[in-house]
Amino acid sequence: MKGHVARKRFGQNFLIDRGIIGAIVSAIDPKRNDTVVEIGPGLGAITIPLLERVDRLHVVEIDRDLIARLKKQHAPERLSIHEGDALAFDFASIGSDLRLVGNLPYNISTPLLFHLACYGQQVRDMHFMLQKEVVERMVAEPGNADYGRLSVMLQYSFWLEWLIDVPPESFDPPPKVDSAVVRLIPKPLEALTARSPAMLEKVVQAAFAQRRKMLRNTLKGVLDEAGFAALSIAPTLRPEDLPVEDYVRIANYLTR
Ligand code: SAM
Repeated sequence: MKGHVARKRFGQNFLIDRGIIGAIVSAIDPKRNDTVVEIGPGLGAITIPLLERVDRLHVVEIDRDLIARLKKQHAPERLSIHEGDALAFDFASIGSDLRLVGNLPYNISTPLLFHLACYGQQVRDMHFMLQKEVVERMVAEPGNADYGRLSVMLQYSFWLEWLIDVPPESFDPPPKVDSAVVRLIPKPLEALTARSPAMLEKVVQAAFAQRRKMLRNTLKGVLDEAGFAALSIAPTLRPEDLPVEDYVRIANYLTR
């Protein structure tokens, strides 16, 4: 790794598999003028092939040693480095029609996905490498044990597509888990029918707080029997049985 010791606290598992790197860049298919933003460029495994395809690349990186290396290797007019925590970064400050990419640090992937879900209107698409188990939760359908808050909130805002499976040997150091690359495309505003996204978030959070219990119990204090009846939703269902549209219907009933 050319003198850099991987930092566990920053979730550093560097991609070394040329075939996978090529497949990710092909899936993104960047054009010269695209505004591509890479989260966690690290030692540049994806950064360098992306720089061959775009005029200017934005990166968000937290590790100061890696930032110093990137600054030495690339001119600022080609590589625009945003130093800091992607969890607190305002992606809208870069502009709109953004194409976000990254082999994300797995230790913060779920909160990062919730943070990025706020930028649907500034983003054209996102391509992320994540722990396979997280991708399973993202794409899970109702009735599946993996279906939960992450599935509902992401599927409400994005179309999701599972693209590539990636084994641990593709990284240095190898992570203890399998990985996968997923594509997220924001749905247009007209498709986002929740009157209050905050209410949708509240209902989904309450419903899945105890996923083994019936909705009657998990939504106690949120939706009463009359509400269940008005919406024709059986209060005996469990949170994992309810499709995304029904969560939106509950939230809209509560903000009517
Ligand atoms: N893109 C490189 C690759 O594929 O080899 C590195 C990927 S590594 C899994 C994750 C990268 O995200 C590291 O460069 C790490 O320093 C960076 N990182 C970790 N936490 C971060 C955060 N909160 N904000 C921004 N970057 C972060």
